[in-house]
Amino acid sequence: KKILDAQALADDNDAELTLRPQYLSEYIGQKEIKDQLSVYLKAAKQRKEALDHVLLFGPPGLGKTTLAVVIANEMGANIKTTSGPAIEKAGDLVALLNELEAGDILFIDEIHRLPKSVEEVLYSAMEDFYVDIVVGQGETAHAIHFPLPPFTLIGATTRAGMLSAPLRDRFGIVAHMRFYPVSDLQLIARRSAEIFNTSIAASGAAELALRSRGTPRIVNRLLKRVRDFAQVAGKSEIDQQTVNSALNKLQVDGCGLDETDLKYLKTLIQQYKGGPAGVNALASNIGEDTETVEEMIEPYLLQIGFIQRTPRGRQATEAAYEHLHIPYQTGLQA
Ligand code: ADP
Repeated sequence: KKILDAQALADDNDAELTLRPQYLSEYIGQKEIKDQLSVYLKAAKQRKEALDHVLLFGPPGLGKTTLAVVIANEMGANIKTTSGPAIEKAGDLVALLNELEAGDILFIDEIHRLPKSVEEVLYSAMEDFYVDIVVGQGETAHAIHFPLPPFTLIGATTRAGMLSAPLRDRFGIVAHMRFYPVSDLQLIARRSAEIFNTSIAASGAAELALRSRGTPRIVNRLLKRVRDFAQVAGKSEIDQQTVNSALNKLQVDGCGLDETDLKYLKTLIQQYKGGPAGVNALASNIGEDTETVEEMIEPYLLQIGFIQRTPRGRQATEAAYEHLHIPYQTGLQA
């Protein structure tokens, strides 16, 4: 089992690596986060210190891993990448920490999935740069104090609420990543097209951006598929019509919703009369696990106002009914 996952940086394939912005100046959008980070980066560099620990949270595909790499490049530091589920024992983490040099960055994706015993080792490592390792058993058991070089931990999580308070409190810098507005996604589409050596019309980039669920990873994924359709159709430029017909074939609708999103909404509306419905019941009804529903499906539906979270469960909004062309009857809804 590989604890250190260099491949994780490669995402789907090698092309991803070239698509990834390397410096803040290439990182599109998330202006508030970039503005703040550039101050902290500059200050840390001036003091010749490691950057304070950074927590990035937000839905998958918004650029958390990319931002971690950008931070490492801006600091001129090495980055080691791992993930919460990959670190099973405290010893795994100690082995990773042991390899760090002063100023290095340790990136832990899905940090909310670290086992509790591992998380506890992180506390002293983050706060005072040491770990106490217990060796021996019973009578002879004793702790060895193990100093670490100053390093920066960057944690990424899709769910801030899943992080324990002691861990959350040890991050000096917390950045909440938001879904990207269409204008930013358009820029990302044009930047990626350029890297792919593909020409895309403004109208094509706009259409692609509209249908990418506010998510850079989806822009890039759809762009690759649209490029295939354009090439096979003998088009020299990706225009709006090419994007439209390709995405219709891929069953991505006008709002960027895919089959699973639509299944979720139809189930909520048709089987639960629009809700409120509990997320567990809803998830099992559409054959997904609750975590997938909460992390991958619901955040965007909440963002575009198609569902609401109420104390009694999920509820479909009038906008969702309209999108599905189902008459909305007030009064029926609880
Ligand atoms: P996360 O770690 O949040 O799941 P990633 O960092 O893997 O997301 O980003 C997914 C892909 O989207 C990356 O391969 C990158 O090319 C692209 N991407 C993400 N954020 C940006 C951005 N701000 N500007 C340009 N491209 C981006």
